[in-house]
Amino acid sequence: MSVPFTGKRFAVVGLGRAGLPAARRLREFGASVVVWDDSQASRDVAAAEGFDVSRASETVGRFHALVLSPGIAHNLPKPHPEAVWAQVNGVPILTDAELLYQAVRTLGSRARFVGITGTNGKSTTTALLAHMLTKADIPNAAGANLGPAALALPILPDDGVYVLEMSSYMLERLVSLRFDAAAMLNLSSDHLDRHGDMAGYVAAKREIFARQGDGCTAVIGMDDEDSRAMAAWLHSTSVRVVEVSGKGHETGAEGLRGEHNAQNAQAAAALARALGVPEAAIAEAIRTFPGLAHRAQQVAMRDGVRFINDSKATNADATSRAMSVFRHFVWIAGGVAKAGGIDELAPFFSRVEKAFLIGQDGEAFARRLREAGVANDYVGTLEVAVPAAFEVARNGCGIVLFSPAAASFDQFLNFEARGERFAALAKGGA
Ligand code: ADP
Repeated sequence: MSVPFTGKRFAVVGLGRAGLPAARRLREFGASVVVWDDSQASRDVAAAEGFDVSRASETVGRFHALVLSPGIAHNLPKPHPEAVWAQVNGVPILTDAELLYQAVRTLGSRARFVGITGTNGKSTTTALLAHMLTKADIPNAAGANLGPAALALPILPDDGVYVLEMSSYMLERLVSLRFDAAAMLNLSSDHLDRHGDMAGYVAAKREIFARQGDGCTAVIGMDDEDSRAMAAWLHSTSVRVVEVSGKGHETGAEGLRGEHNAQNAQAAAALARALGVPEAAIAEAIRTFPGLAHRAQQVAMRDGVRFINDSKATNADATSRAMSVFRHFVWIAGGVAKAGGIDELAPFFSRVEKAFLIGQDGEAFARRLREAGVANDYVGTLEVAVPAAFEVARNGCGIVLFSPAAASFDQFLNFEARGERFAALAKGGA
């Protein structure tokens, strides 16, 4: 096997979902790897796999790069000490997607790279584009922020396509990766603690188009002002620009309801066209896209009642997307609320037949709904909420929508665990 990183030395800091697979792959690729995590439990796992567990800053010798987990800051709000060490010593701080690109090119593969970013819709667009490529029989591998970490993806042949979901944290840590086609879907304020302000966040997102030139395609969402400003800038460069908008559109496909998903579908289609996917495969993929788990996904049907799991909706904005696609529903919500609670959902309150509230801020949601005259009960847990909602829906509107508009960590490990619990209860489990 050829080994693209022979003789190179890497530090990997943060041994989570991306870090540990990165360390393993770099070792397979011939590199020597020094790993670190602030948690003893994670260090123990790495030590058991035979890694050299130490702080790179306390070892001697040169490093090719520091691979820093996307969740660890190198700047704001407070840089990790190993990131400070790297910056002082001129060691580049890279994300694993950059190293995947370097490995693929060193191994001589001309596989193409697609990058997808934006505040919302990244995962949906990434998964949908991969589905389109598969329908067109084009070898592909999708991952990075969603699914497998970039360095866990296989090496693809010349006609292969990598579809990488890129967070703003990852985009700040690229040096040579050039996306043949890239999409920036939308911008709303998010992660400002890490980027300082909205301008810093926008600048990070714009990196998706860095190094693009003749022959590259830039897809840009036009449904918010900051994105439109980015489109104006793109038009001043030499890339081919494709503007997309979901306003006033519906795909008509079950797995892609709502204007936001129409935008995602247009973006995926524009990227697919740039890669040479035939129109028939694009249309077929949109029609058959199963949707992503925990995003307004139907998980059960019992006695004529449809159960919709939208556990990914950890804030009111995300819940508003789900509410906009169902005319009338029994609503289950609550958890750890964001600033503003459910105020911005008021335009949809008339669609709620009855609400059942759970979790830490469920009582505050209940108060807000009572003020608005919406029938509701604070019931505390999903175990009580699901059967109660089923009873109401069975004799009424026939839809139970679990779209919490709140984070999950008061009662669950993460939104996935929360959604799985809902799905199990929806199927009639105890
Ligand atoms: P991400 O990976 O960027 O978090 P997802 O595809 O997982 O995005 O979608 C998360 C939620 O964001 C969806 O449930 C929906 O509420 C909302 N959303 C999805 N696509 C868009 C879009 N294009 N514009 C605005 N909101 C969107």
